[in-house]
Amino acid sequence: MAFRPLNWLFGLFSLDIGIDLGTANTLVNVRGKGIVINEPSWVVLDKKTRRPEKIGLQAKEMVGRTPATHIAIRPLRDGVISEYDVTKDLIGYFLSKAHQQTLVPLPRPRVVIGIPSGATEVEKNAVYDASKESGARETYLIEEPMAAALGAGMPVTEVVGSMVVDIGGGTSEVAIISMSGVVVSRSLRVAGDELDQDIITYIRNKYNLLIGERMAEQVKMTVGSSYPLPSEKTMRVRGRNLVTGLPEELEISSVEVREAVSSSVQVIIDTIKDALDEAPPEIVADLMENGICLAGGGALLLGLKERLTDELNLRVWVAEDPLTCVARGAGMVLDDLERYSKLLVDIDN
Ligand code: ADP
Ligand code: MG
Repeated sequence: MAFRPLNWLFGLFSLDIGIDLGTANTLVNVRGKGIVINEPSWVVLDKKTRRPEKIGLQAKEMVGRTPATHIAIRPLRDGVISEYDVTKDLIGYFLSKAHQQTLVPLPRPRVVIGIPSGATEVEKNAVYDASKESGARETYLIEEPMAAALGAGMPVTEVVGSMVVDIGGGTSEVAIISMSGVVVSRSLRVAGDELDQDIITYIRNKYNLLIGERMAEQVKMTVGSSYPLPSEKTMRVRGRNLVTGLPEELEISSVEVREAVSSSVQVIIDTIKDALDEAPPEIVADLMENGICLAGGGALLLGLKERLTDELNLRVWVAEDPLTCVARGAGMVLDDLERYSKLLVDIDN
């Protein structure tokens, strides 16, 4: 990235913040400092008052362990702003946390927020208003796959086709981009969470063992895959036997987990094929040259790159640090708003 002395100087006296408001993780990128916050998008609410009591990391630790008076939710799950007030609290929490980390009192921040490409007008406005109410001086929205592609280093402003597949917790986003615009896009609600559910269902059906969501996610991250592994792995899982009602531990193999997640992985692959099918031939030629970039936490699923390379007949690569692409892309927009203004989403407020 080019060094811009003026921008740098300005950065000392104002707070510019890029936010990746993910369904699973929220990242905050402060200009001049980098990613200062990376926490799960969980909120624990008091059921009666609907007020949040814990947000982020502290809230995720309580998942599956809350008493009857409380409930743990992810307001952005499925890419929908299902809980406006809670989303506002979430944004407010992260903005004030980022603000607290600055040494001198600074004016209200300028904020770039990544939103899912499938977001409706109502949802876009909700995020925009929530940011404004949380104290942002200026708010800009960018579609997550666009931010991911930028953060992954793709030439999104150039006259060349780029393709990114961002697999998060609640949604997978597929986008083909050229000249600062989206040429083809798909957003589907099959992503990391769905794979976790697949694993829960599989283990319940095969072994009558009920495991929790966090255990299922561990299984996916440790022995999950979508392509035969050079050496297959095993892992011990714990849960409750549904027949005896008692705790039980058993060993599960990567071969079984691959079978468990295979149909959801296939849905994602079919969606990518579908998007490719719609791409104009010149752009397909560009993609043959530059390949397809995988971003988001789902990009880390073992063997996904190999599986996609096989199925698509194109080079597929995983972005550097795929979990932070959107936050880094949002930061790049703040670094040069003029250059990247075309990437932003229009808001009719
Ligand atoms: P979002 O943008 O929706 O917040 P992220 O890009 O942060 O989502 O990705 C979170 C998802 O990635 C979760 O479903 C998580 O389980 C999954 N994930 C993280 N690491 C891995 C891994 N090593 N293998 C498979 N999935 C992973
Ligand atoms: Mg994301």
